[in-house]
Amino acid sequence: MIKITFPDKSIREYPEGITGLEIARSISNRLAKDVLSVTVNDEVWDLTRGIGGDAKIKLHIWDDREGKETFWHSSAHLMAEAIESLYPGTRFGIGPSIDTGFYYDVELPDGQQLAEKDLEKIENKMLELARQKNPIVRREITKNEALALFKEKGDDLKTELIEELEDGTITLYKQGQFADLCRGPHLPDTSPVKAIKLMSIAGAYWRGDEKNRMLTRIYGVSFPKQKMLDEYLTLIEEAKKRDHRKIGKEMDLFTFSESVGQGLPLWMPKGALLRELLENFLKKVQKKYGYEQVITPHIGDVKLYKISGHYQKYGQDSFRTIKTPAEGEEYMLKPMNCPHHCEIYKARPRSYKDLPIRMAEFGTVYRYEQSGELHGLTRVRGFTQDDAHIFCSPDQLKEEFKKVIDIVFIIFKALQFEDYVTQISLRDPEDSEKYIGTPENWDKAEQAIIEVCEEKGLNTVTVKGEAAFYGPKLDFMIKDALGRSWQLGTIQVDYNLPERFNLEYTGADNKKHRPIMIHRAPFGSMERFVAVLIEHTAGKFPLWLAPEQAVILPISEKMNDYAKKVLIFLNNCDIRTVVDDRNEKIGRKIRDNELKHTPYLLIVGEKESSEGTVSVRRQGLGDQGVMKPEEFVKRVKEEENEQLKELTNL
Ligand SMILES: [Zn+2]
Ligand SMILES: [Zn+2]
Repeated sequence: MIKITFPDKSIREYPEGITGLEIARSISNRLAKDVLSVTVNDEVWDLTRGIGGDAKIKLHIWDDREGKETFWHSSAHLMAEAIESLYPGTRFGIGPSIDTGFYYDVELPDGQQLAEKDLEKIENKMLELARQKNPIVRREITKNEALALFKEKGDDLKTELIEELEDGTITLYKQGQFADLCRGPHLPDTSPVKAIKLMSIAGAYWRGDEKNRMLTRIYGVSFPKQKMLDEYLTLIEEAKKRDHRKIGKEMDLFTFSESVGQGLPLWMPKGALLRELLENFLKKVQKKYGYEQVITPHIGDVKLYKISGHYQKYGQDSFRTIKTPAEGEEYMLKPMNCPHHCEIYKARPRSYKDLPIRMAEFGTVYRYEQSGELHGLTRVRGFTQDDAHIFCSPDQLKEEFKKVIDIVFIIFKALQFEDYVTQISLRDPEDSEKYIGTPENWDKAEQAIIEVCEEKGLNTVTVKGEAAFYGPKLDFMIKDALGRSWQLGTIQVDYNLPERFNLEYTGADNKKHRPIMIHRAPFGSMERFVAVLIEHTAGKFPLWLAPEQAVILPISEKMNDYAKKVLIFLNNCDIRTVVDDRNEKIGRKIRDNELKHTPYLLIVGEKESSEGTVSVRRQGLGDQGVMKPEEFVKRVKEEENEQLKELTNL
């Protein structure tokens, strides 16, 4: 008998050679039906592979990342099997699972090329093969066997891969007539794959090298149920409509220019206003929580980042350093604000009475990203963090951490993020080499975070081994209106930088002590946050944040003068208003402005201009009737106050 340890630490005995599938069955038939793969001692295995000795295991279902990976990797093989049967002689490159499905790089025989129209035929073949319920069988083979097999098939791509492998490590997976060189793991058979959509075709150089020949990459996604595929495709459609790059353009928020450079967003007036509103909001909240704003330069001496360790960490992947022409000084674009803030802390002696010091900066940082990795505002090369560092004594840590959480929730409320997950990332106690600082400090910091989350009643997931090397952290992942998860702000406890920068304060005992640092950025970065906000709201920002809150639409030119009078009045009352006095029909003006997501449309015709009123339409709510501009102002203020009541109640 062997001992199997489950994730909850419970232990059961099973005969030697038991498989993951059999273990699942011993728990429940339901689980045996849902299980897709199994982690055995930190390695993901096929469910049909026998376990030879005592082991720690975790069974994976669809909801687990590992479960999906297995499902999609098997789907990639299924696609290859379908292609081979439709186009005998096809050569196969690599076919992994990815975040949203799978792909396979293929080369059809005799220079044939696949087109989008061929995808349906392949899908149908895949479904037909899946229904055959062919077992997927793992076999360890020698290098010579493997080479012989793929040489015979004439697949020089696979042969090239095998040449690089060490004998004794090679496995083959076979289903039906199809065999593939593969590490696995795979599903026990093809039948769980019930719904398939091949999404697109792209060119891909063999091994990512443009000197090599171009293969055809086919992307696909698959599910255990048709309904799940339908929902996924609807989501994709909706996500396309909400793409922040598309809406950002329609709303005139930001743009990119090849002349300026890739990954460097340019904020248009309306986008700049949006950022200013967000920044002012956070500044107000932070002021109430005792933060002070600082400003630091966009570059810093390389020496600074060598002290902080960022040079060692980012040096390779950053922009090259800049040398001064005469003095031989060497500067780096700022990858992080923290070192600068440490120097501000050090600018004068600190006493325990000064603590906590809460230093905030909307600091722009620059990090090199490969051009292929850049994406709208979510992956850029220059971005502004809503950064702050709290320097505190150990006994203040918990209280300070709590206050940061409060700030995060004020933001979530004001921006209508209702669905979120919090993750506590702790160190891996079995891998203490990876972390700096004493175990006592780590215990204290971790305990502080855990207690704070409990006291706050947060619903948290705890993950061991995900901490930063300098301290544990708390991450916030929000779910947007489409159910997609976005990582936003983090709060991190740091013992490392105070050490590296030799930060001190004089305690009540007149001795020198080391402060603890908290790094926090509730938005993450302004760029990323705006992107998430656009995709979450589809551009319909809450009223307090809309760069344009109202647009006045005169029915004809005759009302333009009156419209201007109302405009001046509203802007004087701090309602961000514009006039659409284009020579267009009113129906057209309404439609155009609805597309821009301006919350209020104020229509003025003959009657309104003679009575001194406006006819009010609220986006999403329709006609709100006719009212005096004063009354409209009152209404807008009330709506804003309601949305920002968390802030005003502070
Ligand atoms: Zn494979
Ligand atoms: Zn920091």
